Amino acid sequence: MKAKPNLTRRDHLKTSAKLLGFVLLLSEADIAFGAKILGVRIWPSEDYTRITLESDSALTVSHQVLTGPDRLVVDVQGLELNPTLKDLVAKVKPNDPYVSQIRVGQFQPNVVRLVFDLKEPIKPQLFTLNPVAEYQYRSVFDLYPSTPLDPLMELVKSSAKKEQALEKKNEEDLIAQFAHRNDPPVAQAIPTPKEPPPSQRFKRLITVAIDPGHGGEDPGAIGARGSKEKHIVLSIAKRLSDKIEAEPYMRPYLTRDGDYFVPLHTRVRKARQVGADLFISIHADAFIQPHAKGASVFALSQQGASSTTARWMANKENASDLIGGINIKTKDSQVAHLLLDMSTTAQIKDSVQAGSSVLQRIGGFAPLHKNKVEQAGFAVLKAPDIPSILIETAFISNPKEEAKLNDEAYQERIAEAILQGIKDYFAKNPPVARRATS
Ligand SMILES: [Zn+2]
Repeated sequence: MKAKPNLTRRDHLKTSAKLLGFVLLLSEADIAFGAKILGVRIWPSEDYTRITLESDSALTVSHQVLTGPDRLVVDVQGLELNPTLKDLVAKVKPNDPYVSQIRVGQFQPNVVRLVFDLKEPIKPQLFTLNPVAEYQYRSVFDLYPSTPLDPLMELVKSSAKKEQALEKKNEEDLIAQFAHRNDPPVAQAIPTPKEPPPSQRFKRLITVAIDPGHGGEDPGAIGARGSKEKHIVLSIAKRLSDKIEAEPYMRPYLTRDGDYFVPLHTRVRKARQVGADLFISIHADAFIQPHAKGASVFALSQQGASSTTARWMANKENASDLIGGINIKTKDSQVAHLLLDMSTTAQIKDSVQAGSSVLQRIGGFAPLHKNKVEQAGFAVLKAPDIPSILIETAFISNPKEEAKLNDEAYQERIAEAILQGIKDYFAKNPPVARRATS
């Protein structure tokens, strides 16, 4: 009899536990259903199309690739269809290279299904990103073409005419020089001139890789008036690209030509794929104090940074991958390995020279933050075989300079100064007559 009240108490506890369990179950379901979509974004580009779902908690996502017709089916668990998610349907642009349309539906009570109808077969990469900068949790779907584009092939195609023209001109110069010596212009008998005139120094087209910083999910620095670094630097980069295109012995290559994110190592890899003779990364600076001003030019440092500011700046620019959203699992380990292993002494020496030429030209009309090329560990400057510089064109965080950076005439002047700096550098350091690639 003594035991009876105890039993009753135990029974009562059991019931409570059951009840508690039930309540827990309910609230779990609530949380799962409560995952809220905060934003949906789509970033189309020739390289790949990225779709980002931003939510207040991490989403569980599964996917399958189907053919005939090509489509990608993505199921998101613990989600109810809401207007933000439905917006995605309207965000697909007709000129998206890979996605023709997106369909969104409540597949099961707590599963939302997204169907991407595709224009060609793709290799998807799905990954999630934890909150960083102004972003909450992000689920990212990168749709890469099954047959990736070859940047060198595209560049050779687009610059074929110029290459032929340069070869023709080199031949004509040689013949003219020969005729000047009163020798008959017979092709086989042409002697090699001891000191070639400047017009003959460039035996092949010089390739300049232009790298507009940030893009897509990564806006870069933002000015007080709301200007985004990614837009300003793309505009300056395109102006520089046009100017280089207008030169008979140079061709430009842009690491991105639209508003989309390119991981830092991919920018380096692209420049190496096209056999770039020079790599120029274009940025706009930001600092806590709004009066900081002037342009800076950076080269890579072997160890350490030439100043605390330089180190701070490198950390800021290197954070691009975190904010822009890089799929760590598929990170190009081959490039990373190469970058770590190879000696960069010669590259740094050339980069400092190229940087000084550019800095001098910019200093001709704009204030400089530092009078000499600074050095720091910028990830984007680590191609072991390409002289590489990073230009902070001005401080977007300085209201006066933000206004200048938005001014088209000022953007032209900056682009022109960079071009003149590049020409100064190559006049002193003509690239050897080899083709690194092709
Ligand atoms: Zn930047």
